[in-house]
Amino acid sequence: MRKVVLHAPGDVRVEDVERPTIVEPTDAVIRLAATCICGSDLWPYRGADEVPQPQPMGHEYCGVVEEIGADVRTLEVGQFVVGSFFASDGTCEICLSGYQTGCVHRQPGAPTGAQAEYARIPLADGTLVATPGQPDADLIPSLLAASDVLGTGWFGSVAAEAGPGKTVAVVGDGAVGLCAVLAARQLGAERVILFSRHADRQALGREFGATDIVEERGEEGVAKVKEMTGGLGAHSVVEAVGTHESMHQAIGSTRAGGHVGFVGVLHDVAITGDDIFTTHVHLHGGPAPVRRFLPDLIRLIWDRTIDPGKVFDLTLPIEQAAEGYRAMDERRATKVLLTL
Ligand SMILES: [Zn+2]
Repeated sequence: MRKVVLHAPGDVRVEDVERPTIVEPTDAVIRLAATCICGSDLWPYRGADEVPQPQPMGHEYCGVVEEIGADVRTLEVGQFVVGSFFASDGTCEICLSGYQTGCVHRQPGAPTGAQAEYARIPLADGTLVATPGQPDADLIPSLLAASDVLGTGWFGSVAAEAGPGKTVAVVGDGAVGLCAVLAARQLGAERVILFSRHADRQALGREFGATDIVEERGEEGVAKVKEMTGGLGAHSVVEAVGTHESMHQAIGSTRAGGHVGFVGVLHDVAITGDDIFTTHVHLHGGPAPVRRFLPDLIRLIWDRTIDPGKVFDLTLPIEQAAEGYRAMDERRATKVLLTL
């Protein structure tokens, strides 16, 4: 089968390798319907994250169950399933409380890599959610988005306590930020402010439910949001970038007593006591427990209430994965779908 492997920063290759097989009796092997490149894949691609190399890439997946281990109870071969980037048992206290990414048995969701034709998924019963049937082809991008960017944006909005009557601001106009906009509106937010400087992302943000766009960043962006909210700041702010600047833009844009949901993978972020003591801002985030939201997200996609697959603005065959990485690295694409 074909699989994307990172050999060194900037060097991704598509290789012919053996299909993964069942290792643990709780595993499943799935045949992916499509795969994609994540913004977080750019960190190791740029050499900003040290990872062992060669490294199989990709952690977003949906597809058909090809094989199950002897202890898998709830899934059948042939079912179409969606999972997320961490595998979880679904039975420990942390999973039952809705924090599957903190599962006591958590492990990578697709340890063999998900930018591939097949992937081994550990803890299949806890990790995978079956769709009501075989999806129409046009639903595949949205189901794939549910696997990470939609689930992550959704958690960002939930962690920020987006809801009816609330003004929500979203820092980050990548796929996760755009999905957070969609989530905030679905959760009933009255006003959704998207920070964005890119015309195409602003347009999709508006389609997903943004009511206002702010092009300013940093202190200027904070001042703009304050000005738009009677000097108070937003009730809820989603941080979907992960840099020091974006985190402080998020904290600064939040009103006293408000909530920041942070889901960008943090890199070199420093938060002082003053940043949180004097502001009365709640901070909650981390790796999104996508699994908590998957049943609801699958239903919304299945019923065609939401179409998060629109975040994919470039589709390439997996053989051109290297071009997909370049396009995302150079910001020529928001998110790249790889067909198999
Ligand atoms: Zn667990």
